[in-house]
Amino acid sequence: MAEERRPAFGGSNIHIPLSLQELFGLWSRFPGAAPWAGGTALGAGNHSASFLSLPRDIISLERIEELRRIARTERYLEIGAMVRLNEITRLGKMIPDVLIRTLLGAAGYPVRNLVTLGGLVCSSAPQATGTGEGILPRGARSLGAAASFIALDARFELRSAESSRWVSAARFYTPGGRQEIAERGGLPAGAWGAPPAKTRLRGGGLSPKPDPAAEPGRELLTRIRIPLEQWSYSVYRKIQDGDRWGTAVFIARIEKNILMELRVIFASDRIIRSQAGESSLNGKSLPLERRDVNHFVALWELALEEEGRTDPMIRAILLNCIEACALELAD
Ligand SMILES: Cc1cc2nc3c(=O)[nH]c(=O)nc-3n(C[C@H](O)[C@H](O)[C@H](O)COP(=O)(O)OP(=O)(O)OC[C@H]3O[C@@H](n4cnc5c(N)ncnc54)[C@H](O)[C@@H]3O)c2cc1C
Repeated sequence: MAEERRPAFGGSNIHIPLSLQELFGLWSRFPGAAPWAGGTALGAGNHSASFLSLPRDIISLERIEELRRIARTERYLEIGAMVRLNEITRLGKMIPDVLIRTLLGAAGYPVRNLVTLGGLVCSSAPQATGTGEGILPRGARSLGAAASFIALDARFELRSAESSRWVSAARFYTPGGRQEIAERGGLPAGAWGAPPAKTRLRGGGLSPKPDPAAEPGRELLTRIRIPLEQWSYSVYRKIQDGDRWGTAVFIARIEKNILMELRVIFASDRIIRSQAGESSLNGKSLPLERRDVNHFVALWELALEEEGRTDPMIRAILLNCIEACALELAD
């Protein structure tokens, strides 16, 4: 049976279900309850200097065994939402290099012992700076690990009492995708903060379309599925100018000196991708010719220009980084 207690935390009711079934039972009894994973964002937000305030009802995910599993098939790695970042990085070579770097970059070691993969995906908490030492002003928001999850084509399992569905990271991280999930009463109240002003994904695709067949109901992120493709080249960079930052991910699959597939994503408060740029290079022999790289960078410039709001310094650093990665590609 689920434990229920009412200590500390300014009178929050803390529920500790032992299974997903119990969790959804509790969620229907306490619809305003927030899932508590590592508590690093939930515990840090919403308090004044003198008073720590937390949601009135908290559902701890700590003792739900199913959320702590890690499974590997030939094609996928599946990681439960309650697996801690340090547990994942310890898996070593099983994890795509770019994801390891993303998790290592998410926070310092002690914090990574607390932060869960599910919390990282769902949180819009005040974010730390690129050094992992400070926290940006309250309300600052980054899409954190979004660039890696989108580049790796990860999928997220969202479960409610009635149903379970898989959503691609690309869709999950778009404002429309989040809106849809929020409207389904799922990911916790306020988890997303205000949606980004706009998200522009160059070259089509990835547009969020609400699923009309979807049943309403509280949804929990339960698993993350990552395809186990071999990436010959992967780069994860925090692009930072003072308090502003974002993350760029550049991954490529190379076979017999041909660039078979390239994915480049930049995530800050929005996600930017130039699929036209990626298509322009796919299939080319390596090393790339200078004019092809110039064309690729020009397409990225266009994507950023159309986006309009990118900080000029961030933009310059990002374009430099993209250019350097493209020039560095070799078998
Ligand atoms: C010192 C410090 C440094 C940090 N540095 C960085 C950084 O450099 N980069 C970065 O990206 N982030 C950084 N963070 C933020 C950190 O990433 C978040 O605090 C963390 O991701 C939250 O994870 P958690 O497991 O503690 O989630 P919690 O705090 O427990 O939950 C966060 C939110 O997600 C919801 N939630 C959690 N799990 C689920 C689930 N399975 N399904 C649905 N909803 C769920 C909760 O209800 C809550 O609203 C830092 C945090 C700290 C404290």
